[in-house]
Amino acid sequence: MADPGVQAPLHKNAKATRPRIDNFINSKRFKEVNLLNLLYPATTSADLTHWALPGGNGAWEKWTFSEIIKQQFTPTKVGTNFGPTWATHWFKVVLTLPEAWKGKQIRFRWDSGSEATLWSSDGRVLQGFSSANGDQFRTDYVITPNFDGSEETLTYYVEMASSRILGTTNGDEIDPPPTDKTFTLTRAEAAVFDTTVYKLTRDLEVLHQLSTELASDTIGYMALFTANQMVNHIIAGKEKEASDLADLYFSKSNGARAHNLAAIGNCHIDSAWLWTYSETKRKVARSFSSQLQLMDKYPEFIFVASQAQQWAWCKEFYPELFDRIKERVSQGRFLPVGGTWVEMDGNIPSGESFVRQFLHGQGFFEKELGVRCREFWLPDTFGYSPQIPGIMRHVGLNRFLTQKMSWSFVNKFPHHNFTWEGIDGSKVLAHFPPGDSYSMNCNVKEALHTEANLRDKGRASTSAFLFGYGDGGGGPTEDMIERARRLADADGCPRMQMTTPDALFSALEKEQHNFAVWRGELYLELHNGTYTSQAAMKRLCREAEFALRDAEFLLCMASAGGKGGDLLIRSLVELDAAWKKVMLNQFHDVLPGSGIEMIYPEATKLYHEAIAAADTVWKSSAITVLGDKSTSGRSLWDASIGSFFRSGDASQLLAFNTLQWPRRDVVTVPTSEGDPKDLNYALVAVPAFGFAVMEAAAPTNPVTLSEVNGSYILSNGLVRAVISSLGQLTSLAVGEDVDRDVFMTSDGQQLTGNRILLYDDQPLYWDAWDVMDYHLETETCINDATVSTPVSIKEHTALRCTLSWGCSVGRSSSLLQEISLSADSPYVAFKTSVNWTENRKLLKLGFNTSLKTTFATYDTQFGSLARPTVVNTSWDSARYEVCGHKYADLSESDWGLAVLNDSKYGWSGRDSTLTLTLLKSPKAPDANCDMGEHSFAYAVMPHAGPLFSSDVVQRSYEFNNPLKIMTANNVAPSPASMSWCAVVGAGVVLHTVKPAQDGSGDVILRVYESRGTRSNAQLQLMLPVKGVVECNGMEDPGKVVDFVAKVGGVSFLVKLTAYDIRAFRISF
Ligand SMILES: [Zn+2]
Repeated sequence: MADPGVQAPLHKNAKATRPRIDNFINSKRFKEVNLLNLLYPATTSADLTHWALPGGNGAWEKWTFSEIIKQQFTPTKVGTNFGPTWATHWFKVVLTLPEAWKGKQIRFRWDSGSEATLWSSDGRVLQGFSSANGDQFRTDYVITPNFDGSEETLTYYVEMASSRILGTTNGDEIDPPPTDKTFTLTRAEAAVFDTTVYKLTRDLEVLHQLSTELASDTIGYMALFTANQMVNHIIAGKEKEASDLADLYFSKSNGARAHNLAAIGNCHIDSAWLWTYSETKRKVARSFSSQLQLMDKYPEFIFVASQAQQWAWCKEFYPELFDRIKERVSQGRFLPVGGTWVEMDGNIPSGESFVRQFLHGQGFFEKELGVRCREFWLPDTFGYSPQIPGIMRHVGLNRFLTQKMSWSFVNKFPHHNFTWEGIDGSKVLAHFPPGDSYSMNCNVKEALHTEANLRDKGRASTSAFLFGYGDGGGGPTEDMIERARRLADADGCPRMQMTTPDALFSALEKEQHNFAVWRGELYLELHNGTYTSQAAMKRLCREAEFALRDAEFLLCMASAGGKGGDLLIRSLVELDAAWKKVMLNQFHDVLPGSGIEMIYPEATKLYHEAIAAADTVWKSSAITVLGDKSTSGRSLWDASIGSFFRSGDASQLLAFNTLQWPRRDVVTVPTSEGDPKDLNYALVAVPAFGFAVMEAAAPTNPVTLSEVNGSYILSNGLVRAVISSLGQLTSLAVGEDVDRDVFMTSDGQQLTGNRILLYDDQPLYWDAWDVMDYHLETETCINDATVSTPVSIKEHTALRCTLSWGCSVGRSSSLLQEISLSADSPYVAFKTSVNWTENRKLLKLGFNTSLKTTFATYDTQFGSLARPTVVNTSWDSARYEVCGHKYADLSESDWGLAVLNDSKYGWSGRDSTLTLTLLKSPKAPDANCDMGEHSFAYAVMPHAGPLFSSDVVQRSYEFNNPLKIMTANNVAPSPASMSWCAVVGAGVVLHTVKPAQDGSGDVILRVYESRGTRSNAQLQLMLPVKGVVECNGMEDPGKVVDFVAKVGGVSFLVKLTAYDIRAFRISF
């Protein structure tokens, strides 16, 4: 039925009518005569003075507001340029408001061509400003909705950042930022804001959108006719009639089956990307304060912010703002979301890192805001571990949201709503906003697209609609909320209702029985170069994860049962800070390597600080542990990590093992002469989770090395490898089993491994992010024909034999390698250093094996993942570069080859070939990414039996975690060896032994099942345990676990299903 009273246009010519509406509210065309011309009927220029804050990026952090306003401000004016990039400029703004403006809404308008923060004269952050070439702009601040005429002179301060909301560039968005950019101040004024004109503008805008998007529908015509008649009314001076017509239109609601858009305000703030951590701190203040402004005006408006780190920055740098936000949190309108410390990379962090992201994130929200988030919110990351559902359930969550899978390059993901099942069988409800964005503007096109694009039509009646400027922060604007108001229930357009994530998921849960199940990883078919770019970020992440793990274990042993004085309290503070640095660096543009060059020196420093803190805790704990063993009660032990020598005749060496397997490893020790550079090898035996005074053991399997026809044979009875003069592996077998040679085919064809491969690597656009499929067509093997330094013998002892060789790579890069086999070791290790100078080349390592298999198995967070090596489907084909952690494996049913590594994550398993990606050389957004020296190690381990009957998992831990050698002075510890924990039974990995986060002195044990089957084990603790309860990842106590007391400790049974993650809380 037509709207009675709406006058259709005189002519049946929508082709003219529709542009007429657009022109009437257009900000570029006909501006002098159209409606927009009336929006700011009166203005007055600000009186401006300026002070340039000395220094560039981050310099602002050293200054307080009260110091800044005491500086010498000098006059300046609109039209002036300010810079260079990353500099900070302060402006004192004095506005004089004419009395004639009484009764009007008054605004301050600012455009510095950049981002800026508005401060009150008493130092409160009021709002952010943004100008980014017309996109993502926010240039108005409401001084008063109704000027009472009393306060005629107002003073504000503006803090201008010399960068834009999406960073600063002269060309493409991701080009490295220029250092000399300037920004022009184009507006600084007070203005009267005509609220009637504004309402009519938004009315006409939404009606025009409806008429455009529903052009052939009755509803579209009715919107068009309404808008046309409104224009006629406005021209005739009948604004009220125009306004009433619009209200009448928007009052016609949808039918009962209309799709619901759960409109949730948000501002995706990358914690660093095309800007640094420091700029993000200011982005948080700008974004959050702007949202508080909007909340005052719009009571229905709800805003969510993720990443506890950003809230913590707000609290630290802007405490007054933080307090105002807390009020809105208590009203349920400004909500923390996601529960993690940052929105992390979804591929590379370890399982334990994932758990800590929640433990610290939820911990902050709970302590500061009294809120525990009910969902995992990770809209923007580059792939999703298959263990995320298991980790989520472990930390008490079952709701997941992301949108990045919409970026997949080849295959369209078949669902927006589904039950996601992880490798351990955990199920969570997953939702992808079908609009494929977290930066909606609340327009009709987006609303209709969200419904049209939904892949679960008829199954899901609600979809998330995340609106607000994002990536560089910003968030919703008044225009967005005004449009959302009109579309709240407008016939023909999905209902756009402001809501909370909790309400969204509650609605979806009611329909979950209609959703499909997706099992395993959410592989993003793009951005697979992020497993490799910025190699140091990956190496330091792995190193820090292990250093923290080891420190926490020994701290628990040193402090269990109240021992160690204040060691626990002191160390918890250090570990907390260290974990927060590691977790921050796991942000989804830092660890993946997709940020600008400026980010990485700081990230590197944070990693080094975290590792140093872990070392400090380790040392203090070791001193406490060993001191306890002395009869005198004094601390007699001088401990050090990684340095072997102490003067003093009676010094003795200790070896520490922080893994659950007893170890027999070849280690490097100082000679008796005491020159720290003069090293010998010793084979030492150390019990599980303990230490032993080092005594050289005789090798059961000594190494032999022989040269035959220019090739070198390394053998120790466990593994036999033949290395060609070119550094290639030409034969590899378990023991002397020559029938099962990894590189010999059944028909006698010899294949090779340790092939150094170079590829051309020019992605379509996302340079640091992507490795495209066509790179595989450009393979060159560097060590196929000749090498600059052929293989020679470096050392030849019964405990270790080492070969060395080198080659030039590409235009001017070079690679040096030491290939070692140690006594009693089942793998051959390759210690590699590369000087890397290439441009858009990819360096890989290849193993062309003779193994016949259809899948490869990759280490992943708390488990493993099998992926096909065959290319039957487009889904298989798109997985040409995948993420794996400490090992990857190609196996036939009862033997195979595993490759271990200490810092790499990019793999490819195709047919019988396994490759490990070593280095990438992108030029954007960091023009110098990965240029220079690199060192890393990998190992090859052939094994008899299936992968999970072998000890590949154990060896991958050992390869990443060498025995720690320490020096004890003057007295020998008693007993001479110690084992605090043991895991009796295969498959169960006791990954984590950590102090409870609450400082109670309890110890948390986290175990997981590593073989993909049911595994039982006895956990034995040689500690004075009083109680054991099961707990979750948040360390909330659960059901009591029965344990058996034994001499000096306890043991209890752990029964796990495939890839199960469980935790236990031990009290003393
Ligand atoms: Zn992002």
